[in-house]
Amino acid sequence: MAAPVKRDRLFIDNEWRRADSGETIAVANPATGEVIGTVPKGARAETASAIEAAARALPEWRRRTAQDRAAHMLRLHDALMDHRDALAAILTEEMGKPLAEARGEIAHGAGFFKWFAEEGRRIYGDIIPSPWADTRIVVSKHPVGVVGAITPWNFPNSMIARKLAAALGAGCTMVIKPASQTPYSALAFGDMAMEADLPAGVVNIVTGAASEIAAEMCENPALRKITFTGSTATGKKLAAQAGAHMKRVSMELGGNAPFIVFDDADLDKAVEGAMISKFRNSGQTCVCANRFLVQSSVYDAFSEKFAAAIAELKVGDGAEDGVTQGPLIDEDAVAKVEEHVADAARKGGEVIAGGARHALGGAFFQPTLIGGASSDMQIFRDETFGPVAAMFRFETEDEAIRMANDTEYGLACYAYTNDLGRAWRLNDALEYGMVGINQGLISTEVAPFGGVKASGIGKEGSKYGVEDYLDVRYALFGGLGR
Ligand code: NAP
Repeated sequence: MAAPVKRDRLFIDNEWRRADSGETIAVANPATGEVIGTVPKGARAETASAIEAAARALPEWRRRTAQDRAAHMLRLHDALMDHRDALAAILTEEMGKPLAEARGEIAHGAGFFKWFAEEGRRIYGDIIPSPWADTRIVVSKHPVGVVGAITPWNFPNSMIARKLAAALGAGCTMVIKPASQTPYSALAFGDMAMEADLPAGVVNIVTGAASEIAAEMCENPALRKITFTGSTATGKKLAAQAGAHMKRVSMELGGNAPFIVFDDADLDKAVEGAMISKFRNSGQTCVCANRFLVQSSVYDAFSEKFAAAIAELKVGDGAEDGVTQGPLIDEDAVAKVEEHVADAARKGGEVIAGGARHALGGAFFQPTLIGGASSDMQIFRDETFGPVAAMFRFETEDEAIRMANDTEYGLACYAYTNDLGRAWRLNDALEYGMVGINQGLISTEVAPFGGVKASGIGKEGSKYGVEDYLDVRYALFGGLGR
């Protein structure tokens, strides 16, 4: 197949369609501010058509053997990898991240199709010893049915991939609503699905008005589950709306990750991990370190090394060679980062590096390091979602744990220590869905990704991820004779 291009139609029932209204949404390149195209502004009617197509495709898709579904999914994996460069170019153009990161994201996304192709073949049930003679209790797992997925802009490919792959492996069909800022990476899944020979209706993609698409997903009885990745505020609203119609939900929401550096840590490794965890995607990942808690005795040494590493970052258009920091997604994102920095400075924080909009203008912001941060600052409470690292001092392990857990969020956290006992104690005490001990990069398709507290419900990836797309049913076989 020819390399994927930026599709400007909805993908429903293996066909490319316009919105009924003919209305469109403009998509901009955050590095240049230029409009790079438009996509249809779909709403309730288009979502209903997509759900109908997915419901039509469901009986045949779920009846297939897991092996058959896996064959299509492996083809989808190969299609993504074959077109990796073209897909990465589209992703960088609409989202801004450096091309190398975009290529990494495509491979990460593709990995989910391979994983869930295999995992789909291991959906086991149980036989439970029965309390009654002449009976047998059989537990089996069945696909939930049609699933609606709503995804964010920060990982336009892989946030879809890890939902779609799990759904397909479980035998579900799907309607996807991507973020309006990054619809092209999502629509490319239409071409990938065709290349993988997926039957019509198994994958459908509707761009457009979020609240209308979400309302149709919540209210349409043919749709059985909603899986969402995005902000906690939107997730709470959507979960309430879905709850009113008793839809199953999975919620991958915001974080406020602590990154704890103890005095027994290897500081060079800690800085390496800090750079990956803080500055990947220009600080716009849900698992980005937001609060650097550093033990007083190593605070100055860590700060110096961290500042030196930050000085090496190269800000620019993600499509240019050697750039490590792209723009933020839009002006609102820059304004939020600016506000967090100003708030920190007002409350006594020291701006050690950066601290302002970048000379490139537009949505570019300087990689920033703030010292002497305190818990009354916004940056302690809210996800900054930008290239700002704030350092807080602590004295004892108990204090570090208390500070780390002092947030409504519970997605990812990180700790650097060479004390084995402490590492285990931290793993027990930190109230987070994911803990990186001496590691700044934790995402992989083989491990369960997901948060606790206000960071969400459910897991993606791993053997746990497929369970989110399955209903457990029990059958009692009676009258079997003694
Ligand atoms: P967002 O504003 O919540 O948007 C996410 C998605 O929800 C978009 O598709 C958006 O559509 C849609 N949406 C907006 N309003 C809606 C509504 N009323 N009902 C239903 N859907 C609605 O989040 P974002 O700013 O794009 O993404 C950043 C957030 O995502 C951060 O908080 C980050 O931590 C979180 N995130 C979490 C994970 C995780 O796995 N836990 C991963 C990545 C990101 P439109 O674009 O059309 O508005």
